[in-house]
Amino acid sequence: MANPELMEKIVSLCKRRGFIFQSSEIYGGLNSCWDYGPLGVELKRNVKNAWWQSVVYERDDMYGQDASILMHPQVWHASGHVEGFSDPLVDCKKCKHRFRQDHLEDSTKCPDCGGELTEARQFNLMFKTFLGPVEDSASIVFLRPETAQGIFVNFLNVATTMRSKIPFGIAQIGKAFRNEITPGNFTFRTREFEQMEIEFFVKPGTDDKWLDYWKEERFHWYVKYGIKQEKLRLRQHAADELAHYAKNCYDVEYEFPFGWSELEGIANRTDFDLSQHAKFSKKNLSYFDEQEKSRYIPYVIEPSAGADRSTLAFLVDAYDEEEERVVLRFHPYLAPIKVAVFPLMRKDGHPEKAREIERMLRPHFHTDYDEAGSIGKRYRRQDEIGTPYCITVDQQTFEDQSVTLRDRDSMEQIRIPISRLLPVLQERLNGIC
Ligand code: ATP
Repeated sequence: MANPELMEKIVSLCKRRGFIFQSSEIYGGLNSCWDYGPLGVELKRNVKNAWWQSVVYERDDMYGQDASILMHPQVWHASGHVEGFSDPLVDCKKCKHRFRQDHLEDSTKCPDCGGELTEARQFNLMFKTFLGPVEDSASIVFLRPETAQGIFVNFLNVATTMRSKIPFGIAQIGKAFRNEITPGNFTFRTREFEQMEIEFFVKPGTDDKWLDYWKEERFHWYVKYGIKQEKLRLRQHAADELAHYAKNCYDVEYEFPFGWSELEGIANRTDFDLSQHAKFSKKNLSYFDEQEKSRYIPYVIEPSAGADRSTLAFLVDAYDEEEERVVLRFHPYLAPIKVAVFPLMRKDGHPEKAREIERMLRPHFHTDYDEAGSIGKRYRRQDEIGTPYCITVDQQTFEDQSVTLRDRDSMEQIRIPISRLLPVLQERLNGIC
């Protein structure tokens, strides 16, 4: 169910606590562009690391890469983006608002004022710029609208340098740009965003099985990092919804406060991309399967996720309000700050001791130190940004070298010797931080 108030609360928390700011805010902002602040950059980095951890480090059939944003213009002819990467744009003749026709329930009337809409025209979503000092048509290049093509053009490089055997995949995280007609819903749909994409190369005939595998694998990644399962669903594309290159596709969708929306698409792209690049580049992009003693163009399963969209989903899902506090119940791996250290009082050696403890923990966890305001307020401040643990130095610390350790979710406090802090935190945040 739509819940605009919840979204407003999250946007305001993001700004107030340094997660996400509007781009160029002092100049009035730039529509649909957002900046990640000190806490947001940590959260998003943790999301990307969690993805990389699970799809690259924890597997023996995946390689990472990082391709450049600007690519040879032929890439986008081969991929079909120059000719076909467009959305149907309609304008309201009365209020002049613009819409994506395929997002409208009634494609004849303006949803804002009821006015008449123009005929749809195709609007290409790729940003263009010029390479070098001469601004002519020969120097036009595009800002990539997806990271995927950077992987396809490197298929041969990776396969030969890593001596990889099919099935194997290539994973990449990077910026992509789309001149969206109607960006919105905070960071959900923007014109500059980050993708986390895998192209997984398989033998033709095994593609259906691998699509099934990847849709389950990717669905459970979101659950593993804390998203409530009932807020997630897999939706299979209807035949008329499939991209021209796709044989089958599933979306992982999340129930945002503005409704069910796509976090990630898992598509069977067949041999379309490699065949197209082979044709346009005149290079042989086939693979010799030594076991089968046969040569073929691999099929590709593509799990394509948005780093910004999943960060937003993790934020929304973590948000909780209790009588006395707002708490972000992040999975500890994703929490921007893992441990905060407080002196109970700003005297009697408390601050010095608390700083000493923070210094001890700093090489192991991202920490924070806070001495402002009552201890209750300091706990609330950390709850609101999702810090799993708080440590407080008090008078007893000087008697028996112990501190209190407070748990974000249960708010339970235990007394613990300083010498045990590091192993206990390591155990509680075990292998996840
Ligand atoms: P949509 O239908 O929402 O426009 P899409 O189906 O065109 O998305 P894909 O081309 O499958 O999206 O891109 C893969 C992923 O990249 C999406 O699932 C999403 O997480 C992310 N993504 C795509 N476009 C945007 C955008 N404008 N802003 C933020 N993330 C995006």
